[in-house]
Amino acid sequence: MPNCIFCKIVHGEIPSVKVYEDARVFAFEDINPISIGHTLIIPKSHAENIWEISEEDLAAIHVASKKIAQAIRKALDPTGVAVLQLNGRGVNQMVMHYHLHLIPRTANSPEISMTQWNIVPGDMALIRKTGEKIAAAMR
Ligand code: AMP
Ligand code: ZN
Repeated sequence: MPNCIFCKIVHGEIPSVKVYEDARVFAFEDINPISIGHTLIIPKSHAENIWEISEEDLAAIHVASKKIAQAIRKALDPTGVAVLQLNGRGVNQMVMHYHLHLIPRTANSPEISMTQWNIVPGDMALIRKTGEKIAAAMR
């Protein structure tokens, strides 16, 4: 896709710190890391988001995420790794080429904000109604 920064990374047109590559997938370090070791995994074939990406590329990214998470554990000994993926401007997707974030947290480093939220009991009637609506849309 012309003018897509992540397509340019896949094609070597702009530099990246590559950590992994296979037939479908490319993985590299985020240059604005939330924590050290913050890694992005992308499909080589351009797709904007979860609605566009092929099932084959999605599966390949998740298989790669396990390999890379294992390497992060070996290399950095994190206390945990957050796996995050954003779809659409409404949730602040900034680069419109699908990417899965792997964000490790190491001992004594600050809390990663998106892994923390207040547990507030929901409205069970609304939860049931919404679940039924989504389940119906699966058909
Ligand atoms: P988002 O679309 O909000 O899920 O995040 C896009 C991510 O891509 C951000 O964490 C950026 O720091 C990262 N990013 C943008 N440009 C580059 C680049 N050239 N190399 C590595 N990471 C990048
Ligand atoms: Zn692209």
